[in-house]
Amino acid sequence: MSSIQQNIEQITSQISSALQKCGRARDSVQLLAVSKTKPTQAILDAALAGQTAFGENYVQEGVDKIAYFAQSHPELELVWHFIGPIQSNKTRPVAENFAWVHTIDRAKIAQRLNDQRPTCLPPLQVLIQVNTSGEESKSGIEEEQVFELAELISSLPNLTLRGLMSIPANVPDYPSQLRAFKQLSELKHRLSERFPQLNLDTLSMGMSGDMDAAIEAGSTMVRIGTAIFGARDYNK
Ligand SMILES: *Cc1c(COP(=O)(O)O)cnc(C)c1O
Repeated sequence: MSSIQQNIEQITSQISSALQKCGRARDSVQLLAVSKTKPTQAILDAALAGQTAFGENYVQEGVDKIAYFAQSHPELELVWHFIGPIQSNKTRPVAENFAWVHTIDRAKIAQRLNDQRPTCLPPLQVLIQVNTSGEESKSGIEEEQVFELAELISSLPNLTLRGLMSIPANVPDYPSQLRAFKQLSELKHRLSERFPQLNLDTLSMGMSGDMDAAIEAGSTMVRIGTAIFGARDYNK
């Protein structure tokens, strides 16, 4: 077994015990393997361990990997999530290649992704990225603006709003992590009440360093890179 496969087993059991500890149902959290900067061989190792959902941050790198797997391993049926910041001049390749986008933070991006989504594909599954920590992270929309953006997205036929995503400030202590995640969880609750017709079922939160707190706060999708693939080398 490769070390990547062992890591996936390890993370999967960590997810199960975190769920059990707070009395949540088994399998109520999906594992998204964040493969940015990692070679296709690493993704293949993970896929052979049964992993199907992968997250990428850089448009060109992601599009290249998607094309490679569509060509060489169509049987794996990988599902690709775009989780990086989106510039408006890069929306087209995102709309044409990915199944999910986690990082919608303004109307212009939502509108462009909708207009550029090929109608032969299913609607793009999208999340609104919220800046819950206010200061540190500059990406994500302010909480008060989420409702207006959700309203717009719900009117766009080629996008399906599934929920919220955040990347809280990187803090080591569990209570602070939990507080930030609960803030997103409560916002999602209010959003679901406001838009009961939308089936908002996704809270994308939790990474290698704060996964347990995210799960306790109600995460349904954890985005794990380092704990699966090892540290990233951005100089390659
Ligand atoms: C890189 C990245 C991750 C994975 O982070 P790790 O700490 O390596 O698990 C998760 N989410 C986003 C948005 C990222 O950019």
